[in-house]
Formats: sequence, C-alpha cells, structure tokens
Amino acid sequence: MKILVIEDEKKIASFIRKGLEAQGFVVDVSHHGDEGFTLLTTRPYDAVVLDIMLPGRDGLSILRSIRERKMPLPVVLLSARGELNERIEGLNLGADDYLTKPFFIEELIARLHVVTRRAAGAGQSILAIADLTINLLTREVTRGGRHIELTAREFSLLELLARSPGRVLTRAQICEQVWSYDFDPGTNLVDVYIQRLRKKVDAEAPEKLIETIRGVGYRMKQDS
Ligand code: CA
Repeated sequence: MKILVIEDEKKIASFIRKGLEAQGFVVDVSHHGDEGFTLLTTRPYDAVVLDIMLPGRDGLSILRSIRERKMPLPVVLLSARGELNERIEGLNLGADDYLTKPFFIEELIARLHVVTRRAAGAGQSILAIADLTINLLTREVTRGGRHIELTAREFSLLELLARSPGRVLTRAQICEQVWSYDFDPGTNLVDVYIQRLRKKVDAEAPEKLIETIRGVGYRMKQDS
C-alpha cells in the first residue's frame, strides 16, 4: 500500500515514515502543502495522512480540493490538541478519520487499514453489518433475516451510514448527502429521521447499530 504523508514537522513525519515502512507500507513524505498537493494529484496513492497546519496550502484546503475533484482517496487528518473546530470542519469536508497528536503509530496503522478497506469495498452491491444487510441494487433491507420496509429517504440515510461503518457523520454531512440541502443548524430533521430508522432497524435487535456521537453526529457501528 502506498501512503502519502503531508506533515511539516520533520520529527513527526520521519516517525510516521519509519513506523509505516516497518509494516510494509510504501511511503512518500512532503513537508509543504503545495508540494504535497501536487504529489497527490500526479501520483497514485492508497491513502493520505494529512496534517492540518502546513506551510503553503493548509490541510483543510487540500482536503476540500480532493473532495471537489471527487478523488476516491481516503484521508486521515492529523490535528494538534485543541483544534476541535478544525477537526469538525475536516469531518464535514469528508475526512475519513483523524488522529490527535501525539499518537501511537499503531493507531495510525489501524486507521489506515480501516479507511483503505472501506475504499476498496465502495463498489460492492451488498452492504452487511452484523446481521443487517442492505442490497443497493434491489434496495432490500433485512435485519436478522427479517425484512424491513423503508421510505426512500430512510434508505438513503441508512445507506450513507452503512457505507462507512465506524465513521462519524455530522448532521451537516448527512443533510447535504441525503437531502442535498445546506444544513440549517435550527432544524432537527436529521435527528427525526435517525429516530425513525432506529425504530425500524434497531428497536427489535439486541445489538444497536446506529450510534450517537454527542455533539458531533451519528455513525454506524463497526463490525467486530
Ligand atoms: Ca503542522
């Protein structure tokens, strides 16, 4: 797997490079936002580890361009402690995950495995999480073999969550992708639909799959 690391702190960048190379990853490192962006648009990578504060283009601006170009490239953001707003903005812009510095290299490796596995599965037609199955072609949903009737909107919401188990989606992201509205912070539309979905999908099952992340949003539980 080939990973691009864009991180201006040379010590951290070399710590990441050594750790990833020891696990068999192929690693390119850039210490500058502009150079990093050029690399990722001209060379094939399986994932990017992207620092937020960078000389030249900052990490969030790079992330925005990656998503605007619809590049199917998993991104793990690195943020400094205290950069809460930047982290939330990063998730809103479509980061697949983030780590707060300092972190253990094992955490980064685990996240890279998750986000690249997810990207590889993006083209499949059946999503399965625990005993929940979602057929994207026939739009049939079952839980523990029991058929579940969903409205079109509920299906879109479930599909969005199920496409990236373990990934937290903010209300704004959900709103944009399921309703194509700009998010109005005054509305509880997303929460209302999540409630409906929970009644249909989770209420009768012992294992609850739709999780609330306080103050951020929702996510589909990750299959253990
Ligand atoms: Ca930095």
